Amino acid sequence: MNLYEHQELSIYNSLSKTKEKFEPIHPGAVGMYVCGPTVYSNVHLGNCRTFLSFDLVFRYLKHLGYKVRYVRNITDAGHLENDGESGDDPILKKARLEQLEPMEVVQKYSVDFHNVMRLFNALPPSIEPTATGHIIEQIQIIEKIMEAGFAYEKNGSVYFDVVKFNESNHYGKLSGRQLEDMIANTRELAAQSEKKNPQDFALWKKAETQHIMRWPSPWSDGFPGWHLECTAMSTKYLGTQFDIHGGGMDLKFPHHECEIAQAEACNNESPVNIWMHANMLTLNGKKMAKSTGNSILPHELFSGENDLLNKAFSPTVAKFFMYQAHYRSILDFSKDALEASEKGFYRLIQAYKSLDSLEKSKTSTFDVETWRQGCYDAMNDDFNSPILIAQLFEAAKFINSVKEESATISGEDLQLLHSTLHAFLFDVLGLVDVSEGNEMDTNQLGGTVELLITLRDQARANKDFATSDRIRDQLQDLGIKLKDGKDGTTYSLN
Ligand code: AMP
Ligand code: ZN
Repeated sequence: MNLYEHQELSIYNSLSKTKEKFEPIHPGAVGMYVCGPTVYSNVHLGNCRTFLSFDLVFRYLKHLGYKVRYVRNITDAGHLENDGESGDDPILKKARLEQLEPMEVVQKYSVDFHNVMRLFNALPPSIEPTATGHIIEQIQIIEKIMEAGFAYEKNGSVYFDVVKFNESNHYGKLSGRQLEDMIANTRELAAQSEKKNPQDFALWKKAETQHIMRWPSPWSDGFPGWHLECTAMSTKYLGTQFDIHGGGMDLKFPHHECEIAQAEACNNESPVNIWMHANMLTLNGKKMAKSTGNSILPHELFSGENDLLNKAFSPTVAKFFMYQAHYRSILDFSKDALEASEKGFYRLIQAYKSLDSLEKSKTSTFDVETWRQGCYDAMNDDFNSPILIAQLFEAAKFINSVKEESATISGEDLQLLHSTLHAFLFDVLGLVDVSEGNEMDTNQLGGTVELLITLRDQARANKDFATSDRIRDQLQDLGIKLKDGKDGTTYSLN
């Protein structure tokens, strides 16, 4: 019997704006798609928060016994600034700036993203498809949308006809907008564009000569629009209707709105049952964003090397800090809040570790079964991790009372408490047992060394040889030897 048959999970659906009882389309199996990173720079902690929010969802669904197919893409082409109106492709821009091939940029930042996710102990998705690997699928979708009469070609580019679509569907239903209002607000822009209407969005863009990431298509040598890749990859791997689609709140409009329009134009049905949106991590009250410089990078947090910090924090503590807020609430980053989380985290881990040494009694003064259901109730209520963590602290308080002999626990209850704490701390929240001074496990060590190798590569690319040599020498002192080869740097333990 699977756990999900005993637990009633409800999820807040951004589309219906209500919490809905979760019932997957195919009983026992869940299809989930989450928009992945655009790999032209290092992910910052804000990006990490969104991906960790969905790691929690993935982990809990798995814990409940569902078979989950989790698809998270890599955007390696087509995500233009200004949504394609006049902007550049940030990957190409970076490639020019760093004198790299665009695919070297993609590789460098994909590797960084994977290293960071591994350090956070996030599970890899089941499929991680790339936009450039699905150009044919994207062209096929454009053809279908054109056949249905919802797109038009102009000078080798193809645009989605939002006005036409809105005659039979509602463009704006996810973000709560009306097309008439959008049109009224953008009237002046219309004349400068080859689009019929400023709200129309690109499905295919003809490439200018300097745009080297280009593919042949029936319309021109060019590249697909950003919104299209997610429709292509989600329907390819999850079908024309699937259970959950997630992303950060800032993707709701226009990205997800456009995804709905494309899929409805193509297949005549709503693609997603539940839309989930994770809220933003802010810094000094403003959205953490690379473009404004208002961001902290994961390795700055793990090393403490940032003016806003006075010490380093481990990835698991940072993750615990994030999960102390609900994924739909804004969370402001501060070192004081992190320090409070760190204390809490160690208190919890200490309590968990002392379970083995607890004295067993005939009876318990704590209702473990009710407490355990309380943990599930928290997660069943739209993945309410702060309430879950409060429950875990309740258990820690009780454990400490047993140690101080002001409470008692039976052997049977002790077992249940142990297994439940283990499941929620490590399987569901995905925390790692790093009590102060604890030795790292090999997984963490590997991730850390790979992160240092990436940092050293960056230092060398910037001709900062003092830093790159320091990383190599100090690792050598710790018994970790780096070896540079033609396929990159590897390491061995002395
Ligand atoms: P991008 O690489 O810009 O496409 O962003 C990757 C993911 O990070 C998207 O789901 C964004 O919504 C999310 N994101 C960007 N900034 C933040 C932030 N400050 N807090 C939380 N999530 C963010
Ligand atoms: Zn997307």
